[in-house]
Amino acid sequence: MPSQDVCAHIEGITTVRAASRHQCDECVKAGSSWVHLRTCQACGATLCCDSSPKRHASTHARASNHPVVASAESGERWLYCYPDETFAEY
Ligand SMILES: [Zn+2]
Ligand SMILES: [Zn+2]
Ligand SMILES: [Zn+2]
Repeated sequence: MPSQDVCAHIEGITTVRAASRHQCDECVKAGSSWVHLRTCQACGATLCCDSSPKRHASTHARASNHPVVASAESGERWLYCYPDETFAEY
């Protein structure tokens, strides 16, 4: 787990949640597409990144007060906190 220069949100994460399904449910509902996927560490929702047209992950983070996401891309092992803009590999 990350140990230095990270915010309390990331420090508080002991087990990283993985994506249960590799899709953005909001994009599927809207018939949109996404670029990369992020998994919310508070509720486990997998949503699309800020490079995607709809930016569902950051919208969800703000609307639900769920600050931290993990990359849901295979081979990527990192966490990001939206309000603090902190990034940590694990
Ligand atoms: Zn934070
Ligand atoms: Zn989306
Ligand atoms: Zn969430």
